[in-house]
Amino acid sequence: MTTYRRPDYHLETRLVHEGQERTPFGETSEALFLTQGFVYESAESAERRFLNEEPGYSYTRYSNPTIAAFEQRIASLEGAQAARATATGMAAVTAAIVSQVQAGDHVVAARALFGSCRWVVEDFLPRFGVGCTLVDGPDLDQWRQAMRPETKVCLLETPSNPSLEIIDIAGVAEIAHAGGATLTVDNVFATPLFQKPLELGADIVVYSATKHIDGQGRCLGGVILSSTAFIEGPLQQFLRMTGPSISPFNAWVLLKGLETLPLRVARQTETAGFLADSLYNHPKVRRLTYPGRSDHPQAELIKRQMSGGSTMIAIEVEGGKDAAFRFMNALKLVHISNNLGDAKSLVTHPATTTHQRFSPELRAEMGIFDGLVRLSVGLEHQQDLLNDLTEALTRV
Ligand SMILES: *Cc1c(COP(=O)(O)O)cnc(C)c1O
Repeated sequence: MTTYRRPDYHLETRLVHEGQERTPFGETSEALFLTQGFVYESAESAERRFLNEEPGYSYTRYSNPTIAAFEQRIASLEGAQAARATATGMAAVTAAIVSQVQAGDHVVAARALFGSCRWVVEDFLPRFGVGCTLVDGPDLDQWRQAMRPETKVCLLETPSNPSLEIIDIAGVAEIAHAGGATLTVDNVFATPLFQKPLELGADIVVYSATKHIDGQGRCLGGVILSSTAFIEGPLQQFLRMTGPSISPFNAWVLLKGLETLPLRVARQTETAGFLADSLYNHPKVRRLTYPGRSDHPQAELIKRQMSGGSTMIAIEVEGGKDAAFRFMNALKLVHISNNLGDAKSLVTHPATTTHQRFSPELRAEMGIFDGLVRLSVGLEHQQDLLNDLTEALTRV
């Protein structure tokens, strides 16, 4: 439907222009088509459109020009053949997995997953006869051993939330494909700028667009990127019939968010690197993990599959939960929130919030200790952030 497709332009240029189709009014900014449906010139036209014999839109649960513009722009960013937007990141993950399996199938997933993603594979899918095995993501042997003839889907997130462990995407893709399964990567923490799972062999990439793609804490959204065969085949049917559609308004916000994504993520990553270096040897910090540091235990793998360190830092303070709480409560500029990827810097205590439902043993397996605080670095001045963090660390 859209005329603007110039793959020869650089990324920044495509993120400003790709997917825009001007109306006869000649508006500068992308039009927002806040409409449920579309009218037809004739009964014959409606019939043809339902037969897919005529281009055009029919109902926003199926598709919408503003949503399509967002999908085209992010597909261009990811280098994917096609994309579909959803109401939330969880709708994207759930649709991507559920549309690939049926009773009797099996899923292998990394243990360190975003809490709700883990619930979908570990608790929800088994209700419908789909088995699930969880593995330590960085250990490729565990992936190999978990594969079964009925394994259809492998799922991972890297860097993982919140411990920032790295999983070898190309390695897992090879194991998945050898076993006749596909690999889905939740790429939120790396952002579409720093990691290209499709180029590394993954079949499907999912995002919570709620995070860096919006980047200013306004609306929820998700997106699934893959081959045309998957997107327009099993996925499209699942989305159209079950209806986790994104609002055109939210798609418009996210579409505009893509225009500034490279600038925001570059600045946030630069600040994250500065903060990680400045706090690394702090006496109150037991352990600091940042994928952009050359002493990350998996630095070699990071160099192979990521082109930037990300906007997230994992800080384990000395003194467990009490110390972590004192640190968080003493922060003045950095806010306490379970969200991430915002222009505002945010801290989370995963053990008592996002990962509360797991036992201390399971949390330890995922690297989530009571002193661990996850920091999402925003767009504030780096010195103001460092001052706030250092001042608060005196309370630990
Ligand atoms: C936030 C997040 C999700 C869920 O996204 P929502 O938009 O909140 O539904 C899934 N995976 C990861 C890694 C996330 O950070």
